[in-house]
Formats: sequence, C-alpha cells, structure tokens
Amino acid sequence: MTVVTRFAPSPTGFLHIGGARTALFNWLYARHHNGKFLLRIEDTDRERSTDEAIEAILSGMKWLGLEWDDEPTYQFSRRERHAEIAQQLLAEGKAYYCYASKEELQEMRETARAEGRAPGYDGRWRDRDPSEAPEGVDPVVRFKSPNEGETVIEDQVQGRVVIKNEQLDDLILLRADGTPTYMLSVIVDDHDMGVTHIIRGDDHLTNAARQIQLYDALGWQSPIMCHIPLIHGPDGAKLSKRHGALGVEAYRDMGYLPEALRNYLLRLGWSHGDDEIISTEQAIEWFNLENIGKSASRFDFDKLENLNGTYIRNSDDSYLTGLIIPLLEEKFGRKVTSEQQQMVESAMFGLKERAKSVISLADSAAFLIAERPLTYDEKALKLLNDNSKQVLDRLADRLEKIEDWSKEKIEAVVRESAEAEDLKLGKIAQPLRAALTGTTVSPGIFDVLEVLGKENALGRIRDVNKA
Ligand code: GLU
Repeated sequence: MTVVTRFAPSPTGFLHIGGARTALFNWLYARHHNGKFLLRIEDTDRERSTDEAIEAILSGMKWLGLEWDDEPTYQFSRRERHAEIAQQLLAEGKAYYCYASKEELQEMRETARAEGRAPGYDGRWRDRDPSEAPEGVDPVVRFKSPNEGETVIEDQVQGRVVIKNEQLDDLILLRADGTPTYMLSVIVDDHDMGVTHIIRGDDHLTNAARQIQLYDALGWQSPIMCHIPLIHGPDGAKLSKRHGALGVEAYRDMGYLPEALRNYLLRLGWSHGDDEIISTEQAIEWFNLENIGKSASRFDFDKLENLNGTYIRNSDDSYLTGLIIPLLEEKFGRKVTSEQQQMVESAMFGLKERAKSVISLADSAAFLIAERPLTYDEKALKLLNDNSKQVLDRLADRLEKIEDWSKEKIEAVVRESAEAEDLKLGKIAQPLRAALTGTTVSPGIFDVLEVLGKENALGRIRDVNKA
C-alpha cells in the first residue's frame, strides 16, 4: 500500500502554527514511507475563504520546506462530485430529504436542552413519505445514520474511541441550496484522492466518527485515523495570538530559520528518545505515529529561540549571509556591494555565535557595512574618552606599519601596543571595539580588524579623534 497523506486547510486565515505542525506530520509520514503528501484547500466556505489566505498557506508551506505532491485540490471545484455522492446515498435509501423548518429545528434544540440531551436533529423526516413534503420548501439532504450500536475509531494516537451511535444525529449532506457540507466533501475527497492516513488535530475526533459512518454506508474503506492533541500556550490555555498562534510568515519575519521552526514543531508533540536537535533527514527516517504524544503540548518561545540559535550556529556562513543581505539593504536603504557581502561572510563565523535570530544576526553585522564616520551608542561613547582616544591614535600608528594585514600580525601589534602603554589587553580592546563597531559587542576584536580590512579599520580608528 502506498501511503497517501494530506493537509486540508481552510483558507480563512494564515497558516498558523498548529496547522503547520499538522502539515509537517503528514509530510514526514508520507516521506518516511515514500508515499505521497497531498494538499487540499478546503475553500467551500465562500464567504470566508480568500485568495490572500490561499497564498499565505502555499507560501508558508514552501518556506517551511513542506513541498506537496501533485497540484493542490480545491474542494469547491469538486462540489458536483460531492452532490453526486449525496444523490447516490438518496437512491440507495441511505439518505433522505428533510423539510424541517428553522422553527422546528429551534424547538428541537430547546427540547433537547430542557431534557438535558445534546442538541440534535430528531430524525422526524427519516421515514416519512416524501408525499408529505410541504409546498414550496427546499429540503436539505440528511444522512440516515445508524441509530443503534457503536462507531469505533481505532485511532493511532487516541487509541480505541467508541462513540454510541445514538449520540450522533442525522447530519446534513446537502444544504437546501444544494451545496455540499464539510462532512460530505471531506469524505468524498479523501476517498477520491486515495488518502490512506488522516493526521489532523483532535478537535476533529467526533467528526471522525461521523465520517466513518459515511464510509461504511458507501462501502468505502476508511483511512487510518490519527488525531493529534492540540498545542496549548505556555500557561496551558488554548493557543491564542498572544501565545504565538501566528502565521508562519510572522515567524519568518521574527528571524526564525525554517529548519529550526520545523525541528521545534516536530518536537512539539513527537519524540525520539531525548533527542532535541533532529535534522530533516533524521526526522524523515524516524517519524512514526507511535511516538506522537498523547497530551497537549505547550508552546514555549524560549525553547524555540534557543533552538533557533543552535541552528544559526550550525548553519553555513554563505547561507546566513544570503539571508541577512536583504535585511541590511532594507536597513541602510542601499545596495550592499559584493565586497561588503564578502566582508559579512568572512565575519559570519564570529557573528553567528551570539545570534538567536536572523534579525539579531543582521543587526550584529550592520557595523561592517556602515558608512564612516560611525555613530556610536551610549556605552561606546563612554569608552571613547580623551585618554583612550590618544591610546587609539598611537595604536593606529603601529597598525599602519603592518604590510600583510593578517589576524596574527594584527594581534601581535595590538598586544605590543598594550604592553607599551602598560595596559591590560581588555583596556585597549574595549575602546578599540567601540571605535570599530560603534557598539560594545562584536565578534573577536582581531577578527573584526582583519575582516574590515586595513584601510577601513584604520579610518574608523582615526575617526574617533576627528569626532
Ligand atoms: N479544513 C479542516 C480544518 O482546517 C480540516 C479538515 C480535515 O483535516 O479533515 O480544520
């Protein structure tokens, strides 16, 4: 059997973090089994579905590296096929027309409430002769769901879930205007797309029971169900915007690497022993349904940030440079020259040590391409007093004499200067850093000197006395 999974978002908003995790699990499961991962856009709610949301979902998935197979399926375009199946059920006596009015339905709800039952349709048109149909009323089509017995979901995460059939009322398949409902569309699409495994949030668990009833009525094999616990905020409450229930593009804009977010989402609800850093290759190799957690996971921004830092440190210098150049160009409002780009890449091994996000990485690289004279932050200004300015000037005289501008030479000269001035290395390095970067944090000072190049570095040191 070829495994076929699917991600089926409704395009009524961005691709939020819970949806992204669902997509990731489906993607991993399909890739692990050399199967297919399909994308279905559930755009049947015409009022709330938007092209922007579709775009955000597609681009969010691409950014996260969750490439789907085949063209996406747009559910709305398949409405005739959905209606056809409703007609088939009608013809087989497994569905019926229901003419109950709004008032009647309201009354049913109130009676149920008064009797302490779950509100639901009472089946009054189930066995009634269509000749009794009132004039001028467009009926809905309802599924004749079994009244007795149980429906069992052999869920891969939740275990065996048994639902009494009497708890499930006769759901609507076609609305009065002939449009199919969600429940009908989903099962027809999953069947026609050959979906073998449904992996989705456990808020769909009750739907699963209804869907299994429909599969049975149609004589179709139900896909294997896997309902994953939802993601909660750090305080245990349902994930909200405040907790980070943002679109994945917001995470990109906050400077998270897609591979770090992917790793984080994977660990949020799935485990492989105590492993925290799991590469995509390992994830594909190891992913299974057995190790999906059974309880809700908590979203933890600090953890995500630390993971992001780890991923940044382990990333290729040229990859990171490519990510921050556009940010630097935006910051300075000018093109970064290829020479400057080279400089950023050369400094990257030192810059990435401290970065927790791509944004902070770009900030820390800004000094490299800043125009002279630099602007100094407050702490830097404090270090640049009259005394240190003179020390720096004498240091510049010494550095001037270096012919081959290498880190080793530079280091030797700075150390010599410190000795000659009878200063500890730190006492000379601190104002030097202020002069070269305008700040008090940077990669190692000898690296900074080397990367800036002789002319630029000396210019910056001399600028201090001109200011
Ligand atoms: N469109 C549904 C949602 O976004 C998902 C349906 C499903 O996965 O079966 O919640």
